[in-house]
Amino acid sequence: MLKITPYLGIIILIVSIGGLWFPKLGYFLLIVFATLLAIAPFRGRWFCGNLCPRGSFNDFWLGKITFKKNIPKFFRSLWLRIPVFIAMMGFMFFRLITVEKLVDKIGMVFVIMCIVTTLIAILFGISIAPRTWCSFCPMGTVQNWLGKGKYTIKFDKSKCIDCGICNKVCPMQLTVNQITHNPDCIKCGRCISACPKKALKF
Ligand code: SF4
Ligand code: SF4
Ligand code: SF4
Repeated sequence: MLKITPYLGIIILIVSIGGLWFPKLGYFLLIVFATLLAIAPFRGRWFCGNLCPRGSFNDFWLGKITFKKNIPKFFRSLWLRIPVFIAMMGFMFFRLITVEKLVDKIGMVFVIMCIVTTLIAILFGISIAPRTWCSFCPMGTVQNWLGKGKYTIKFDKSKCIDCGICNKVCPMQLTVNQITHNPDCIKCGRCISACPKKALKF
């Protein structure tokens, strides 16, 4: 996690609320999409754990008011991820080709996407766990596909004392024996910092 990561969440509120008056703010989403697509082939979901404003919002805002339940396995399955991916991309492209080609109208398409996904993230973030949305977010799924096997965590089993701290601090609720190959690891490094035996590293 970068030093700036905890402060990025405010951008979500700026785009979701400010975008209603200044639709051009919606274009910020294009910067987000371009950045994560550029990083994913080399570092997998690193963007999710370090630079994503919504990821930061989920961890550091929703994390204060969540019920902290287990994220249901179904939320990580392709049975949910693929329909969500198709629905969101379908909505975005449909609106982009049907909306009048005005800078503000196009910007508003992205603002609406930001508002809808923020509301879903808040609903699940409070009622289940902060990163529930990130388990099936279309942009997380894309990074998962593009960056499978990249920048993985190395686990030294000989040093591990099975204390389980790494599992507890993982915002994606991954378990230590899946960390080395799980493409849903967002490379936040919290498990590495928390491990008392230095059994984990990138
Ligand atoms: S899964 Fe989506 S919302 Fe969550 S951190 Fe990644 S890109 Fe951001
Ligand atoms: S925190 Fe370190 S020592 Fe504890 S279970 Fe995880 S890897 Fe093992
Ligand atoms: S396994 Fe470690 S680096 Fe990956 S998401 Fe969980 S805490 Fe972050």
